[in-house]
Amino acid sequence: MAFGNEKNILMGQKGNGEIGFYLSFKAAANWPLNSGLNFSDSTQVLSWFKKEYAEWSPVWLELFDSITLPFIPRPINCIPLDQTWDALPNLTMLGDAAHVMPPFAGEGVNMAMLDALELSECLTSATFSSLQEAISHYETQMRQRAAISAKESLDNGERMHSKEALNNMLVFLTAIRYLYVTNGSSMLVFICFSFLYRFLKFQRHTSPHAIK
Ligand SMILES: Cc1cc2nc3c(=O)[nH]c(=O)nc-3n(C[C@H](O)[C@H](O)[C@H](O)COP(=O)(O)OP(=O)(O)OC[C@H]3O[C@@H](n4cnc5c(N)ncnc54)[C@H](O)[C@@H]3O)c2cc1C
Repeated sequence: MAFGNEKNILMGQKGNGEIGFYLSFKAAANWPLNSGLNFSDSTQVLSWFKKEYAEWSPVWLELFDSITLPFIPRPINCIPLDQTWDALPNLTMLGDAAHVMPPFAGEGVNMAMLDALELSECLTSATFSSLQEAISHYETQMRQRAAISAKESLDNGERMHSKEALNNMLVFLTAIRYLYVTNGSSMLVFICFSFLYRFLKFQRHTSPHAIK
């Protein structure tokens, strides 16, 4: 993750060794149509990047060297945190269909898998007297879980796109690192955050002046 002047670059390595990266920024909902960009034209996208991320170090340009087109503009949506509905006897929803949210808490896939597990447990449980009751129980738990993660992802989104994003994230991750060290909890989590923390400190030298 890299932060600066209310814009982000987010990256991750895929199973096949490729690097996927996202450019994340606040824009009007109709920006993909109104930007005038042809997302299949890497030259256009690169010159847009150079203009919009002008204060960023040229080191980030390397990301565009071996890209696979097209770029895909994805508006980020979020469910209402208090959404509810009456359970049906023969139909339910799970995953993004039930609770789409911004990706900034990294919880979407976990939520979808937990939905599947809890739904299967409800459907096979002897506790419920009907399918509708089982579905209703699953949906109630699922909506409560989803609202918490959706709020977290909205808050993280604000934090990550604020003017002070880099400093805010350093404070946030330092606090989490302290928490894990003092509690002697998961070493894996500590190592991950430790790495991220060092990367962000390194990024202080390559990100825009605006957030220094
Ligand atoms: C930029 C970005 C970054 C993300 N990063 C993370 C992350 O780091 N960690 C994380 O946990 N989550 C992340 N997510 C969220 C995660 O991708 C989703 O939460 C997850 O994919 C939801 O899974 P799903 O099966 O519910 O929906 P989807 O993955 O959307 O699967 C639905 C499938 O149904 C298909 N489909 C739709 N309509 C029809 C139809 N009529 N007939 C047949 N098929 C149909 C679609 O083509 C699709 O393949 C990210 C999302 C985005 C956009």
